[in-house]
Amino acid sequence: MTQNCDMAWAGVGIITGASSGIGAAVVQKLSKSAKGLVIGARRIDQLESIASQCGAHVIPVQCDVTKSEDVLNLASVAMSEFGSLDAIVNNAGILPMASMTRCHLDDWHNAVDVNVKGVLNGIAAALPHMLEQGTGHIINISSTAGRRVFAGAAVYCGTKHAVRAISEGLQLDLSERSMKDGNSIKVTTILPGLVKTDLPSSVTHEPSRVHFQNQMETFEHPLLPEDIAESVAFALNTPAHVELGELAVRPTTQNF
Ligand code: NDP
Repeated sequence: MTQNCDMAWAGVGIITGASSGIGAAVVQKLSKSAKGLVIGARRIDQLESIASQCGAHVIPVQCDVTKSEDVLNLASVAMSEFGSLDAIVNNAGILPMASMTRCHLDDWHNAVDVNVKGVLNGIAAALPHMLEQGTGHIINISSTAGRRVFAGAAVYCGTKHAVRAISEGLQLDLSERSMKDGNSIKVTTILPGLVKTDLPSSVTHEPSRVHFQNQMETFEHPLLPEDIAESVAFALNTPAHVELGELAVRPTTQNF
């Protein structure tokens, strides 16, 4: 497979969870060549600051991915401002960490709402436009926790397994359709290992938050958000007939 290295991705994209960490790095990376980006998250000040560093073709829109109308609005803005929707990166996520024996039901519900329903809301917002166009690329951010289960992170692992399963099923449905009507819509799941971001701050159970923050601080050579942004760009830049189904991207030092 040859990469379209000399032709950086120049489409129109949506990125959720774009106010920090991996999402912000994806915005920085793609904005260099994209025709337009619509970037969503709840912290609009952060989004505006990131967009102002990238240029007027990056539009910040406040969005809570648990609200389907907010996510549909991201797609509407992309269509009205740029006339197409070529990619969505469903990246927004939170980390519920604590032993299940604590029965933090609110955390469990929130995690399913953001990590799973948020991805479904993104797919439902983008797919109709992509089916109409006959092209598009849906990139879902899962995790190495989408393959393995870690103690103290059962619900997070469950949500990230769900993202992988949904992506795989979506790919099957789209490929069947592609054989019938020639649509070529790609689905890529990215499974990051440990990436140094603010993700631990979303842990509500304080001892677990402190534990994970320490783990992130002391981990030797974690990935940086830019490493995942490179993977997103790599997937987007594959030739039209090539789909990268799944990319596990880990620090070389990660043994869990
Ligand atoms: P960050 O905490 O830096 O980023 C999380 C992003 O999600 C923020 O922009 C936050 O924005 C957004 N977000 C959270 N809740 C919502 C919501 N309800 N609606 C809209 N946006 C929301 O962490 P990361 O960059 O690390 O996380 C990005 C993704 O990568 C997540 O899906 C995470 O599970 C995944 N991942 C991270 C790994 C890591 O080691 N860091 C490893 C594997 C996967 P705001 O608060 O402004 O809404």
